[in-house]
Amino acid sequence: MSGKTTRVVIIGAGFVGSSYAYALLNQGVVDEMVLLDLNQAKAKGDAMDLNHGMPYGSPMKIWAGTYEDCKQADLVVITAGANQAPGETRLDLIEKNTKIFQLIVNDVMSSGFDGIFVVATNPVDILSYVTWKFSGLPTERVIGSGTILDTVRFRFLLGDYFNVDPRNVHAYIMGEHGDTELPVWSHADIGGRPILSYLNSHSDMYTKESLDDIFINVRDAAYHIIERKGATYYGIALGLVRLTKAILRNENSVLTISALLRGEYGLEDIYIGVPAIVNGHGVREVMELQLDQDEMEQFHTSANVLKEAMLPIVTSYF
Ligand code: NAD
Repeated sequence: MSGKTTRVVIIGAGFVGSSYAYALLNQGVVDEMVLLDLNQAKAKGDAMDLNHGMPYGSPMKIWAGTYEDCKQADLVVITAGANQAPGETRLDLIEKNTKIFQLIVNDVMSSGFDGIFVVATNPVDILSYVTWKFSGLPTERVIGSGTILDTVRFRFLLGDYFNVDPRNVHAYIMGEHGDTELPVWSHADIGGRPILSYLNSHSDMYTKESLDDIFINVRDAAYHIIERKGATYYGIALGLVRLTKAILRNENSVLTISALLRGEYGLEDIYIGVPAIVNGHGVREVMELQLDQDEMEQFHTSANVLKEAMLPIVTSYF
């Protein structure tokens, strides 16, 4: 995509969408950014506000647009829909957000859009599947943010615990972006050294119980943040920017996103969080890690929970 004008359309200028827009502007990732929301005044206000700051950031065209603007878009990022109220799980949002997505995806496709969809709205795995089905696009061009945020939370907390730069911690959260996600300890390392082996050789300083607590904090982070400030948005916004760069700059980066499984890990016809290679064509390849038996069982449990939760949607829409 290099050499051409890059355009991202953000559908849903709420907490997540506008934080993502702000991060895109700060990091100078695209040439054109279009904001679209049911609440047109909010999208317009955001476009004005961002434009006013733009001379201090990177040159970029920013406007509040319409679905027609999706035709020329490389990326349509959907952050529209209901978010979790305190105490609500992500799966509680399925019905409401599927209805919203049917309208949105149809409008995007009617514009002649021929790019890549990124979905962040929850429940993200199910809505990625729904977007793939409604759009009729090849599956590699419909990507959910999956566990991109959970993985970075995990790396941050592990880095903090071991007092190591989180960029030197390699560790994945896989599965549902939600309550049944799992930590992949068998493939977690610090600078190439497996974390569990590092732990054993520093058993006077670090414990497995603390690692288990770290995972619980990752899994429940959204609840803790929502209790305190009503929503989470900066972390996912930066995760979406990371994913945007991987796509627009054709990086072939390994990121934990929600992708369709077609036999990988013994699963079919489900979008779920997995490490995958992402480039300008979308998902190049789902990485099939050699999970240990316990991790594989947890991954299948997570997949089964998602499949069960989406059954009414699949029956009534597809
Ligand atoms: P929000 O309520 O602040 O924003 C949602 C926006 O969507 C609103 O501005 C609303 O007007 C707009 N909208 C609703 N229906 C629309 C439609 N048909 N067309 C266009 N716009 C429409 O919510 P938020 O906090 O920004 O969260 C958005 C979504 O992102 C939620 O589902 C939330 O759970 C999810 N989320 C995902 C992650 C992740 O890791 N994937 C992290 C945080 C939040």
